[in-house]
Amino acid sequence: MPYKNCQHILEDGHRCNRTFGVRTIKSSRTLCPEHERKDISKGAGVRKVQGKQDMMRKFLDELYTFKIDEIDKRLTRMRERQTALDSKIDRVIANFEKLDENFTKMKTLNTKITESLYDKGPEYHDKIQKQILTLNNKIIKIQESNENDKRNRRTRKDME
Ligand SMILES: [Zn+2]
Repeated sequence: MPYKNCQHILEDGHRCNRTFGVRTIKSSRTLCPEHERKDISKGAGVRKVQGKQDMMRKFLDELYTFKIDEIDKRLTRMRERQTALDSKIDRVIANFEKLDENFTKMKTLNTKITESLYDKGPEYHDKIQKQILTLNNKIIKIQESNENDKRNRRTRKDME
């Protein structure tokens, strides 16, 4: 008696492969008696196609979920970095504006000093000098805060 191996695809994706006897080698039977019975009760082709479709759907679902998760994580990271960068740029711009404003004040005061040397008394001169000192300290503070920003960024990078 000739033998064949069952072609039924099991749920784990492997072939059943069970040996079964056929009357002649030309027999069109491809399934072992157990799977032939199941096939007859459910409809051979339909069941096979449905099984493959189910497997494909499950695979795509998993792939989709995985990809979406990955993309989500990346987007979140990018958004966080963007926000950090934005607020940093805002701070730097604000500092530059403050600096610029103070430099303008400084220039005005310098002009006043020059004028005062000619037109006004030494008391007025002292008053302006004090104002210049205050401004100078402000500018130094702003520059220091810019330096701190740079240092913070370096530290943050090191931690990543
Ligand atoms: Zn089988």
